[in-house]
Amino acid sequence: MTETTSTNSLFSSTRFAEFDLPEQLLRAIADLGFERLTQVQDQVLPFSLKGTDVVAQAQTGSGKTAAYLITAFNRILTVPRESEPTGPRALVVTPTRELAVQVSKDAEALAAHTDLKVHVVFGGMHYKKQRATLSEGVDLLIGTPGSLIDYHRQGAYSLRETEVAVIDECDRLFDMGFAEDLRWILRRLPNPRNRQTLMFTATLSRRVTTLGWREMDEPEEIVVDREQITPQTILQELYHVSRREKFSLLLGLLKREGDGRTMIFVNTRISARRLVDDLQRHGFTARGLTGNVEQIRRLRVLDQFRDGELPILVATDVASRGLHIEGVTHVVNYDLPQDAEDYVHRIGRTARVGAEGKAFTLACEDYVYSLDAVQKFVGYEIPTVFADDGLYAEVKPGRRPRPSNDQRRQPSRPPDRATDTGSVDAVGEQRPKRRPRRRRPRKKPNTGDS
Ligand code: AMP
Repeated sequence: MTETTSTNSLFSSTRFAEFDLPEQLLRAIADLGFERLTQVQDQVLPFSLKGTDVVAQAQTGSGKTAAYLITAFNRILTVPRESEPTGPRALVVTPTRELAVQVSKDAEALAAHTDLKVHVVFGGMHYKKQRATLSEGVDLLIGTPGSLIDYHRQGAYSLRETEVAVIDECDRLFDMGFAEDLRWILRRLPNPRNRQTLMFTATLSRRVTTLGWREMDEPEEIVVDREQITPQTILQELYHVSRREKFSLLLGLLKREGDGRTMIFVNTRISARRLVDDLQRHGFTARGLTGNVEQIRRLRVLDQFRDGELPILVATDVASRGLHIEGVTHVVNYDLPQDAEDYVHRIGRTARVGAEGKAFTLACEDYVYSLDAVQKFVGYEIPTVFADDGLYAEVKPGRRPRPSNDQRRQPSRPPDRATDTGSVDAVGEQRPKRRPRRRRPRKKPNTGDS
């Protein structure tokens, strides 16, 4: 077992009270219980509050959202506009709807003592209402690229007078194929010299830095502890296990750990569905988030997980991007991720802002080949733990062993992306029972009698 390090490492010694922020903002920060700045905030705010552009590499759960929201609100509150602005004064672009909603919640909390209008747009819900609100004017607009473009094209708002533009999870935006959309949006904003641009990203890839050079005005590059990409407060354990025994080990780990809020990651939609069924069969309350389903169902599952009603959420990477859930105690990589960066994103779901969490990774013969890349990416070896026999729990009969990847995989499609590239599905909910098919009464042969 590894040791968890001090929870204080994510915080700096600087206090918010030391900044010359508007009183309404300081009050909201105090209401939220924020006293000391996180490392990211400590490095970003001295530049961003002066109006400098910033590219920041910040790990998940580092407090980056508050860093850019405080910057945007400070600007809006301290630089009054003479005439009514025709569009939002600040814009936040996020890769996923969940992240957009989360940012809007944080923004509402920080704007609680002001009369600033915060609005979030995302596809699939209350189209007319969203459009009407936008037309009435908002101070801070948050959205995913698709929705932002959609409403802009309809003339619902303009970006010509936007003063602060935030690109959140920039690497994810690229990964999800939004590079062109992002450029489309940036072209509608005032040119980089006449706006402030803040970009946050978990990894500083070449694509991200290139966008930074092109679309920003001499940005300050901030790297928060490059050596330590994953939060120090996560206890990480790696179990080498055969595919056949993986579920038994998972059951054992869940039983050993007891109550908690657990996110289990798998690489394919099919695995998610199967795992949810298996967990339910063994008495665990579990639901899944995978590709393609309506927004309402997905939000319901997320709310249940957030409220603590649902203790186990089984998710794929696509489905879980940008999810921001407090109090996740355990992350289980039931399948080792095939993309090294996903390891960081997954385990970052737990131990947000200094809380402690555990991340268990099960490496089976199907996915162990990506272990090297993951360890190279995080820059350390994940501590290996040997599971003794007692940790393997009994699996009830009724489950067919999973075919191996070699049997399943189609030559040109990697299993993960092949099966989960779309939007998100909630699995594990009671599905409506099919109506039994009514049999048509057999026609009597026409005998001519009547
Ligand atoms: P983020 O990295 O923006 O997703 O933030 C993760 C969590 O940290 C959110 O729940 C924030 O409310 C919280 N947070 C942000 N800044 C601070 C701070 N200075 N002190 C305590 N919690 C914070």
